[in-house]
Amino acid sequence: MASVKLTNVKKVYDNNVVAVHDFNLDIKDKEFVVFVGPSGCGKSTTLRMVAGLEEISGGTVEIDGEVVNDLQPKDRNIAMVTNAAEILGITDYLLRKPRALSGGQRQRVAIGRAMVRDSKVFLMDEPLSNLDAKLRNQMRAEIILLRQKLNTTFIYVTHDQTEAMTLGDRIVIMKDGYIQQVGTPAEVFEKPTNLFVAEFIGAPKMNIVKTSLVKEGDKYFVTPCGAKIEVTGEKGELLNEKSVRGGEVLLGVRPEHMKLSFEATPDTMPARLEVNEMMGSELHLHVFTEDGTRWIVRVPTIDLTQAQRASLVNGAEVYITFEGKVMHFFDPKTEKNLVY
Ligand code: ADP
Ligand code: MG
Repeated sequence: MASVKLTNVKKVYDNNVVAVHDFNLDIKDKEFVVFVGPSGCGKSTTLRMVAGLEEISGGTVEIDGEVVNDLQPKDRNIAMVTNAAEILGITDYLLRKPRALSGGQRQRVAIGRAMVRDSKVFLMDEPLSNLDAKLRNQMRAEIILLRQKLNTTFIYVTHDQTEAMTLGDRIVIMKDGYIQQVGTPAEVFEKPTNLFVAEFIGAPKMNIVKTSLVKEGDKYFVTPCGAKIEVTGEKGELLNEKSVRGGEVLLGVRPEHMKLSFEATPDTMPARLEVNEMMGSELHLHVFTEDGTRWIVRVPTIDLTQAQRASLVNGAEVYITFEGKVMHFFDPKTEKNLVY
């Protein structure tokens, strides 16, 4: 058993920098929680307060229901495992026969064994950030394996949204020392609470456009750059339920939810192709609509004919649109999601 609970946790450094404001989170036994956010948002500070490496300025940290604010790191049953070699030491210990190991590996295994024996919670602070892309992918799989074998509580810090999405049972998205949203990967992707989360999660990032939301009866439409597209599905229902009035909104559409076409219809916007990034299985098309808005459109390569692919050169005129159910809406002033 190892739950971790942070209540009103605050960190003010000696130079009066408030690194963490009022942090509240209940981490369940065996949960894998990821703190993610841009550099300087307070991830490491929060983790180090859990570890006992940083004094807590306000609030409480509890492990298994016991307040640990004044406990030394060694008395908290926590392991700070922050580099790839240490992680491999634990996986070696758990998975491989000692006889098959080299001298160096055996040394790592001894450290790994001690960590597993003494720790109920594993903390990791950007353990993969110094590795190249290929090694990072391999190590990510190693961490997933480790988690399955160890079946204990993890808090993992990263600035990389892909790592957060692939590793976390729940993700804590932070900015400027404040939690923005806590949720499963699916929740933060599908129901971002505000513009920051919407743009931070997902790559390439969500297209954001200022446009009008028009209410006609109980139907809603958006009108970006001359197109008229009805809001359908759950989003349409929620706009109605919340009695959202029409007006100016920030419309968000993910690149993978955009559609490319080669002829005009009432729901398309004419656009000019600026950059065509060939990614192998998909194209990332950077296009501009007539109002000067830049959009990124992700198109599966297999959906295009050879002739269509050949036509997608710099300056090409194309048409873009998106379905009614994939839209996100944010208040232009508060930047909060209008329906969640
Ligand atoms: P992250 O890990 O998300 O990049 P940190 O927790 O390291 O962020 O830092 C959060 C904020 O606290 C930043 O503004 C950083 O400059 C500041 N900070 C971190 N450590 C110290 C310190 N020892 N003294 C003063 N300010 C610090
Ligand atoms: Mg950090």
